[in-house]
Amino acid sequence: MKVRYLIALAAIGLFLTGIPAAYGQFDSPVIKEWVVTEVNDQGEEEEVDYMTLDGVLVHESDPELAPQPPIVTPGSIPGMPPSDAIVLFNGKNTDGWSAEDGSTSQWIVKNAVLQPVEDSGTIRTVKEFGSCQLHVEWATPANVEGDGQGRGNSGVFLMGQYEVQILDSYENTTYPDGQAGALYGRSAPLVNASRKPGEWQSFDIIFHRPVFDENGEVVKRATFTIFHNGVLIQDHLELSGGTLWKSKHSVFPYEAHGDRGPVVLQDHGNPVSFRNIWIRELED
Ligand code: MG
Repeated sequence: MKVRYLIALAAIGLFLTGIPAAYGQFDSPVIKEWVVTEVNDQGEEEEVDYMTLDGVLVHESDPELAPQPPIVTPGSIPGMPPSDAIVLFNGKNTDGWSAEDGSTSQWIVKNAVLQPVEDSGTIRTVKEFGSCQLHVEWATPANVEGDGQGRGNSGVFLMGQYEVQILDSYENTTYPDGQAGALYGRSAPLVNASRKPGEWQSFDIIFHRPVFDENGEVVKRATFTIFHNGVLIQDHLELSGGTLWKSKHSVFPYEAHGDRGPVVLQDHGNPVSFRNIWIRELED
């Protein structure tokens, strides 16, 4: 009741002052402020500031006016899927995955680990996603072979086309925009947080999809925030275009696509291992 009383007072204040208006250069949230004269517990009049964000009173306790955030139970240990995640790979089988053309994938599950085999090609989720939070654990081969881009190369693609590079980048120099955690050809990671070959590593990716207009022009670029082994390596990076290989020193620009696409794991000819893959869908 007290809250409603305050709201009524606030509304009166709003009516009396006529002050509130959106201000500043930002469209969202719409901020309104006003002052209400109230009587405090000591019986004294005092001026109290009121403020709404998108029409909701700041510090509003009534759940009908300010809904409580949904309860999500976190995983039992860091990195394990929380209660609202969609588990994409849980160590048992490749259910929910296919080859790129929709046929059965040749990737294998061995000792609870997902791996490509020779010439198996990429593997993709059957279900498609847009903006999301994605957790992927991976390990490059313990037996080091090759160098540069030929050493532990794989990748995780959002919407089937924006590649977060997987590479054995532990004491393995290559072009920065192609090392582990790079958005391939577009953005080097802020730091190299790689573990040694054969050790399990993680990506936690917050991805917001790009938006295209009716002419196929990008009107909102994709953004990536990525933690590699818990270390921030892409900080709300606004992707300047596509990440697909075009030539030695070039990648493709944005090309219009739908609102959703698969999560894809790359077969680059190296037996990179995967485990514990889960996703949470996000609002755009
Ligand atoms: Mg790759």
